[in-house]
Amino acid sequence: MAERPDPPAVFGEIVVEMSRVLLRASDHASESRRRGALGIPGSCLVGRDPNRGLVAIDPVLPCGRCTHCASGLAAACPQRTVIGGRGRDGGLAERVAVPEANLHPLPAELDPDLATLAVPVGIGLALARRLRLAEAAHLSVIGDGIAALAAAAALSTRHPATRLLSDDPFTAGLAAKWSLKHRGLAEAGRRHDQEALAIFSSSSEALAIAAGMLRPRGRVAWCVDGVAPNAEGLDRLRWIEGELLGHATTSIAEALSLLTRPPFDPAPLLRRRIELAEAVIALSTGRPVDLDGTLVAIGEGSRRERGAPSAGIAAR
Ligand SMILES: [Zn+2]
Repeated sequence: MAERPDPPAVFGEIVVEMSRVLLRASDHASESRRRGALGIPGSCLVGRDPNRGLVAIDPVLPCGRCTHCASGLAAACPQRTVIGGRGRDGGLAERVAVPEANLHPLPAELDPDLATLAVPVGIGLALARRLRLAEAAHLSVIGDGIAALAAAAALSTRHPATRLLSDDPFTAGLAAKWSLKHRGLAEAGRRHDQEALAIFSSSSEALAIAAGMLRPRGRVAWCVDGVAPNAEGLDRLRWIEGELLGHATTSIAEALSLLTRPPFDPAPLLRRRIELAEAVIALSTGRPVDLDGTLVAIGEGSRRERGAPSAGIAAR
């Protein structure tokens, strides 16, 4: 914990008072490879914009100057930075400067705690839009924890046959509670019958397993940050002439609207609630996976009104 000067408000940016940060395994101090100048994590953010009230923040910042940005491909700008992810400090600070275009006001009826899930839910929704599959398409999500669960739940609102493949008890338990199709990774058949797969697992076997399930010339979306697919997986994918898509885009506006009227109960994804001072310890101790789903309350976020509905399972 350190005192820093307030961030300077560059032209086009707004200084946002942070209120809630949802931590993920990749925020752990041991995983801080490409974070910003100070190495501050935190990509799933809700804060207060002095003009528009509570906002969810899209952490992906296109450069705005390259030919891709000019031609409408800003979401995949090669020079983009990610708040708390690549090249830009994250939201575990009291104030953060954010481009105005990245701020999305929360619907009045949405619990601000749940709005921190907009990034992982939005990844599933953006992926559904990108894959453009028929509604009845069979697709699988491979992975454990908040990112895989949120993305699979979001994908299942577009494609009801979506299934989640995970050996993690928390992930499987929540999928069962949501009536989301799920299987253990080893139990799922390798019948080349899936139209598409989304990988959120950093396991070196994930791509080879996915290639065994994918129909010939199907597509695999690689959604893991900082981990490369392995050679055996790529060779299997080549053999069935499958396509590998990189996917990092999220759709915050769509996610906020889904979270306002969710067909699944997102509250159990917020596994515990801590204060900013406690986050310092949480980030540097324990296993990265233990951070997953931890909500850090900052400023007004830690002063929930009395009687306000609480989303966290361990709200104090
Ligand atoms: Zn650009």
